[in-house]
Amino acid sequence: MEVHRQTCQICGSRKLRNILLREPKTADKVIVQCTECKELVARYIIAKGGYYHHAKGYESYLRGLTRDGDFMNARIMENEYLEIKESCEKEFDTVTGHLSEQGKDD
Ligand SMILES: [Zn+2]
Repeated sequence: MEVHRQTCQICGSRKLRNILLREPKTADKVIVQCTECKELVARYIIAKGGYYHHAKGYESYLRGLTRDGDFMNARIMENEYLEIKESCEKEFDTVTGHLSEQGKDD
């Protein structure tokens, strides 16, 4: 496993912001901007069904799937949501634990 903390390649700052871009008929994107020098740092394309927004709840997850054109059995989706929620929480604990051990959680 590799855990990396994203850093601005221009000024070295770790103060970054994620800007979510949604356009019709296009995969959602996250544009990462450095808040220090204001430069573009990175762009991520979000896979279909790949977006999980913690503490937004099941209704928000359903709206995301519907936006992606994914219509499944509600019961399956609720179970899927709970699995995704749990796995995201575990991954969050793992990566923040690694960064903390490496002294990179500033
Ligand atoms: Zn920068």
